[in-house]
Amino acid sequence: MYRPTWVEINLDNLAFNFQQVKNIVGERVGILAAVKANAYGHSMREVCQRLEQCGVDYFGVSSVNEAADLREANISAKILILGSLLSEQEMRLALNLNAEITVPDYRSAEILNKLCSAENKAKLHLKIDTGMGRLGVWHNNALDFVSKVIELEKVQVKGIYTHLPSSGSDFEFTQKQISIFQDLIVKIKKNKINIQFFHIANSTAVCRFKKGFFNLVRPGIMLYGIYPCAKKFIGFDLQLKPVLSFKTKIVYLKDVPAGRTISYSGTFTTKKKTKIATLAVGYADGYRRGLSNKARVLVKGEFAQVVGNVCMGQTMIDVGHIPDVCLGDQVTLIGVDKDKTITVEELADICATITYEIICGISARVPRKFIRNTDTLLL
Ligand SMILES: *Cc1c(COP(=O)(O)O)cnc(C)c1O
Repeated sequence: MYRPTWVEINLDNLAFNFQQVKNIVGERVGILAAVKANAYGHSMREVCQRLEQCGVDYFGVSSVNEAADLREANISAKILILGSLLSEQEMRLALNLNAEITVPDYRSAEILNKLCSAENKAKLHLKIDTGMGRLGVWHNNALDFVSKVIELEKVQVKGIYTHLPSSGSDFEFTQKQISIFQDLIVKIKKNKINIQFFHIANSTAVCRFKKGFFNLVRPGIMLYGIYPCAKKFIGFDLQLKPVLSFKTKIVYLKDVPAGRTISYSGTFTTKKKTKIATLAVGYADGYRRGLSNKARVLVKGEFAQVVGNVCMGQTMIDVGHIPDVCLGDQVTLIGVDKDKTITVEELADICATITYEIICGISARVPRKFIRNTDTLLL
């Protein structure tokens, strides 16, 4: 890896955040860590290896491919595939990987039943729709659905779950979803149906809805040290440590006079004589074009402004105000330099998107390096 652009993943901070979740939910509630999409861009294998040491109960992945990746990395913890499996081929592979499978309708349960044996039953989590409008059977029909699947001989229903679309924005809607789910659990128990796990809580619910813990929670974003909703909505002092930093270097430096245009379409013109640095990062790395002329970066502990349009693999910044700036200087795009910080939230706001999209968007061509709090590079 010669190109001087990389992501640093602090696995100690990941472990710290996991402990925060543990402290919030208590010893009796299991934790399913959402690690889909390469652990939100943080590198699934290393993240899962560390979380496994921390005592995680489940990993939530989106597809069979991701489950296969984890097994290949010798992850032996329980895996739940959160997405819907379309083909029998996918289902077979999931079963071979001993992954647990989300079942969003009776049709898939029947196919899985056909593919399995009584000795080696498919482990299922039935998905109920309480307002997400995505996978799952509408809650009014949920008891029927559950009762029918339970009758199938070669499947084991390990869990029932639903998902919260607005836990950070709509308190009442979310409370309603939780109470619908509670009612369903009561009915299921009344019908003497025995199911191990009931789960509903994403990160925001972990922070805001104790009633939504049941016996398994499914945090994602907060494990990566990003606050899942505005801090004012969290009723206690939650401390999280960011796991990811995004860094690059100055690969070219020059003095320019006033009146020079910078980058494609000339959207920036220098107002006075200054120094323009070119960075080895662009939108193909996930440093989004929406950051053009708006974002700032950190050089030698000072903020510097992105000037002109972000290019595919290069970005220009104005460093005229930073003394002794040199070719090869490290530049922080996300993270801390001395006493200053650029957060994922800051970039998400500029791009009018959510933090999730910024971190998932850092592309595969950017190498991930793993660090500990001693700052020794492990890789
Ligand atoms: C991704 C995901 C989560 C985690 O959500 P966060 O907001 O990142 O905590 C939980 N449940 C399901 C079904 C998911 O797909």
